[in-house]
Amino acid sequence: MSEPILQVNKLKKHFDLGKKQILKAVDGVSFHVHQGETFGLVGESGCGKSTIGRTIMGLYEKTAGDVMFAGKNVHDLNEKEKFTFYRSMQMIFQDPYASLNPRSTVQEIIAEPMIVHKMYQSKKEQLERVYELLEEVGLNRDHANRYPHEFSGGQRQRIGIARALALNPQFIIADEPISALDVSVQAQVVNLLKKLQIDKGLTFLFIAHDLSMVKHFSDRIGVMYLGHLVELTAAKSLYDNPLHPYTKALLSAIPIPDPDIEEKRERIILEGELPSPIDPPSGCVFRTRCPMAMDICSQKTPQWKEVEAHHHVACHLYNDVKEGRDTPKVLIKGK
Ligand code: SF4
Repeated sequence: MSEPILQVNKLKKHFDLGKKQILKAVDGVSFHVHQGETFGLVGESGCGKSTIGRTIMGLYEKTAGDVMFAGKNVHDLNEKEKFTFYRSMQMIFQDPYASLNPRSTVQEIIAEPMIVHKMYQSKKEQLERVYELLEEVGLNRDHANRYPHEFSGGQRQRIGIARALALNPQFIIADEPISALDVSVQAQVVNLLKKLQIDKGLTFLFIAHDLSMVKHFSDRIGVMYLGHLVELTAAKSLYDNPLHPYTKALLSAIPIPDPDIEEKRERIILEGELPSPIDPPSGCVFRTRCPMAMDICSQKTPQWKEVEAHHHVACHLYNDVKEGRDTPKVLIKGK
C-alpha cells in the first residue's frame, strides 16, 4: 500500500461555549488515509465526524494534535502554502442547495475557484473546462447558464461535485454527500464518485451517519462515537467481524433485503440518548448505552488496541493482538 497522504494524529477540537462549558466535539482521534483510498468515517449525528472534516480542511482551528497532508502540517501553512493546499483538497457538502449560490449560474459557480486560482488565461479556455466538468459529472453544456433552483437534488449535488473538481484536487472530503438525496438517487451519486475516483485517482474521506451508505464505497472504515474513534478496520472486516458493541448495534440496524433473514435476525437496540459532549461519561464514552458494560468501563478509558491484524478497537472487552484476546469477567447488563 502507498504512503499515507493524510495523517490525523490525536486530533482534538473543543468549542468553548462560555460559562466554563467546553464542548468536546473531537477528542483525540488518529487515523491515516492512503493515496487513492476511500476512508469512510461513520457515526450518529453529533459524534464529531463533520467537525473532523472541517478541521482537516482548516475551516476550524484545531485544539490539539496534528493534521499532516502530503507531509505538511495543515494548521501551520503560510498563505502561499494554503493556496496550494486548497487546490489539492476540496470538500463536497451535504446540502447541495445551501452550498450553491442561488444568484449565480452553474457556469459561474463552477468557474469561481478557477478564477480565484487564476487557472486559465482566457475565458474561452475556462468555459471549455466548465463544459468538460459538467459532462464528467453526468450533466451537459446546456446546463451551464441555468440557476441552482432549476435542478433536482441529485443534479445539484453533481454541480457541487463539478465545482469540487474544478481545481483538479487529489483529495476530496465528502461530508454526507448523499444523506439529503432520495434513496433512488443516492446510488447514482455514489457510482459517480466511484467512477471519478478511478478515472482521476482521487482519494476520499467519505463521511456518513449510516454504515450502509459507506459499505460499497470505502476501503477502510472508522466508526466514531461522541468525539472518539471506537473501531477502525478494512470495510469487509468491519461488516464480517464487527468487534465494538457500538459497531455491532449500528450494523444490526441496517435492513437486510431478504425478508426471511430480516425477520429472524436479532437487532441490538441502543437504549438512552447520545450523551452530551459537554459532559461525556467517565471511562468509556459508550458505557451509558453499552449492553456489555462492566465495572472497569466507568473507571478507565479503553486504550486503542490492534485486536487483530489491521483491526483496531477501543474497548475493554479486547486485548491487544500481542497479548491475546481477553474475555469479560463481570458484566453489568443495561448499565
Ligand atoms: Fe462497552 Fe465497556 Fe467496551 Fe465501552 S469499554 S464498549 S462500555 S464493553
